[in-house]
Amino acid sequence: MVICIKTFQGACNTYCVHDIGTGRAVVIDPTVSYQTIHTAMRDFNISIEAVLLTHGHHDHIGAVDEYKHVPCYIHQADLYMPTDTRNNLSRYFGVAFKAEATLTSFACGQTLHLANMEIHCAHIGGHTTGSSIFRIGTAVFTGDTLFSDCVGRTDFPHSTTHEELINNIDKNILTLPDKTHIFPGHGEQSTLWRIKQENPYI
Ligand SMILES: [Zn+2]
Repeated sequence: MVICIKTFQGACNTYCVHDIGTGRAVVIDPTVSYQTIHTAMRDFNISIEAVLLTHGHHDHIGAVDEYKHVPCYIHQADLYMPTDTRNNLSRYFGVAFKAEATLTSFACGQTLHLANMEIHCAHIGGHTTGSSIFRIGTAVFTGDTLFSDCVGRTDFPHSTTHEELINNIDKNILTLPDKTHIFPGHGEQSTLWRIKQENPYI
C-alpha cells in the first residue's frame, strides 16, 4: 500500500488519502465539497469510499452531508455531536449546522479496513470526549488533539481535562516512531521528531 495525501483548506484541514495503486480514497474531516475534491484529484481518478471524523465539532464536519452516499465513521463517544447544533458548537458560532449523514461508530483500538488501507483508530479523549486519531502507514491524522506547536483546547462544553489529553498523547502518539508524519486539524503538518523539539506542551 502506497498512499498519497492531499490537504484541502476549509474550516479545518480536510485530508484526502488515496491508495496509489487503486485510486480508492477516504476523506478525513470533510469541510470542502465533494466536487472540489473530485475536481482537484481528477488526474488520479479516485473514488471516495468513506469519511472519517476526528471528532464532532462543527468546523470539522461542515461538508459531511455531501458524502452521504459513503459510510461516515466517528468514535462512539462523539456520536451525539454532529447531529445537534449545541453539541457540535455551531449554534454558538452563528452557523447552526446539524449533520444528516448516517454515522457509524468505531471503538478505540479498532482497525478499519477501508479503501484498500488499514486505518488504525486510537481514542485521544480530552478536546472532546470521543476525539480520535487515525494512523495510516506512517501518517497520523490528529484532528484537534495535537498540532505542530500546541495541543487542543479542553475548555469546551464536551471536553474532558487537559491532563487526560496529555496522558492520551503520551500513550498513543509519543510512543510512535519519530519519523511519523503528523497531519493536524489546523495548521501545518510536521513530524513527531520536530514536534518533540518545538512543541512546548508535550
Ligand atoms: Zn474541535
